Amino acid sequence: MPTPKTQEKSFRENVNLAFDLALATLDVPEKLGYYIKCGNNIYQVRFPVKINGEVESFIGWRAVHSEHRLPAKGGIRFAPMVSQDEVEALAALMTYKCALVNVPFGGSKGGLVIDPRKYDEEALEKITRRFAFELIKKDYISPAVNVPAPDMGTGAREMAWIASTYSAHKPNDIDRMACVTGKPVSQGGIRGRTEATGRGVVFGLREFFRHPEDVKLANLRGTLEGKKIIIQGLGNVGYHTAKILQEEDGAKIVGIIEHDGALYDPKGLEVEKVSQFKLNQGGVKGYQGPQYIKEGAQLLEEKCDILIPAAMEGVINLDNAQRIQAKLIAEAANGPVTFDAELILRKKGILPIPDIYLTSGGVIVSYFEWIKNLSHIRFGRMTKRHEETQHEMLISAIEKNGAKISADLSEKLLEGSSEINLVRSGLDDSMREAFNAMRERYWRNGNMDSYRIAAMAIAIEKVATSYLEMGVYP
Ligand code: NAD
Repeated sequence: MPTPKTQEKSFRENVNLAFDLALATLDVPEKLGYYIKCGNNIYQVRFPVKINGEVESFIGWRAVHSEHRLPAKGGIRFAPMVSQDEVEALAALMTYKCALVNVPFGGSKGGLVIDPRKYDEEALEKITRRFAFELIKKDYISPAVNVPAPDMGTGAREMAWIASTYSAHKPNDIDRMACVTGKPVSQGGIRGRTEATGRGVVFGLREFFRHPEDVKLANLRGTLEGKKIIIQGLGNVGYHTAKILQEEDGAKIVGIIEHDGALYDPKGLEVEKVSQFKLNQGGVKGYQGPQYIKEGAQLLEEKCDILIPAAMEGVINLDNAQRIQAKLIAEAANGPVTFDAELILRKKGILPIPDIYLTSGGVIVSYFEWIKNLSHIRFGRMTKRHEETQHEMLISAIEKNGAKISADLSEKLLEGSSEINLVRSGLDDSMREAFNAMRERYWRNGNMDSYRIAAMAIAIEKVATSYLEMGVYP
């Protein structure tokens, strides 16, 4: 998290302030509310790894915020500034996110203090496997109890190492591949998981633009087409969000902010080209054509329709909130807008769509992957060909009666339920349903002064109901 000049609350305090406001609108026993907010447990681990003949010591955490549903679910982050406060805040967000989008998991999160850019692949594998082993030993990784996923600084590669470490220690666990999600497809992963959080952001935005009354809240009109967008972070979430918005929705990506500066072009940037450059060069500095801004964060303050922070928490804070000129803020990172900054933004008429809703695509598809691993079969494997045959028969019956079905429509009808189609449609449906629940609560109840509080209230209500009905809370 960048260090703001102004006194700012911690990430966890920010999450808890939103929680308190949402709780105040609900009829949930006060002590139960307090219990939900505090979180269940956290494990801190230090371990040594020998790298190039030198022993290096690492510190990491895995926090479990809630266990009203099991397994508890949440990513593992590799970043130099990871702290216990951050991991606890992220675990809490996972609880609320899963509840909001009806994913039957508790909330968890892990973090390791490391700058992954400073290590080669061999060293990273050693470190990841050792961290995973420490967590497996204490049951902080297992298909039934706690299932990690990728987050900042980790991806499918790290998840494959974690799955392999778990399998080596628990070969008799037939569900071992479900111990982690976000794996490569060849290692029990699911098609569509890598893009899931970004695609979920886009599905969420599309649903927002289907509601003109809501669009008006941000002083916008129309659809995503032609909207000017600035995005921060061209990693997993940012890249897929920007690419899909540009290629499928006709939005204009005018700014990209990365760790080493920002690129700006009011005519629009080519996301794929910038991403390839970044992958080869490690950043965006040196990319030819658009204007380069050394102090990348300054571009957060530029005029645009939609600002998408997709890198890290706390980037819109008391220092810059007053200067933000975007109309809509689509929170594609966890916690990018601080609690106090949101108060300023709302006075300025800027509307944030909150992280606990908009970033939930990752955990939704992780849920699908976990189910796939437990079922030991790819989605659509038994039905795809059968559906195609049925549709073929239907088309020929219709055409026998003289009607003509266009080639385009017939191609679409003949496409059976492949795994990627099922994953995307399940994700779309979950995002639409959750948006409608959130907006309905926002408009229905005068106490709800933001989408965030509405979303949080729905989540708390579900978690509280679960604890009360389970009977663990007397
Ligand atoms: P990532 O590591 O793939 O990408 C992060 C990107 O941000 C990188 O390109 C990095 O260079 C860039 N970056 C780092 N410091 C920056 C700075 N100061 N200014 C601008 N850019 C900077 O991480 P990710 O998985 O895309 O995660 C991004 C955010 O999304 C995090 O808040 C994460 O918690 C959240 N998130 C991720 C997932 C997921 O499935 N990966 C799911 C839900 C939420």
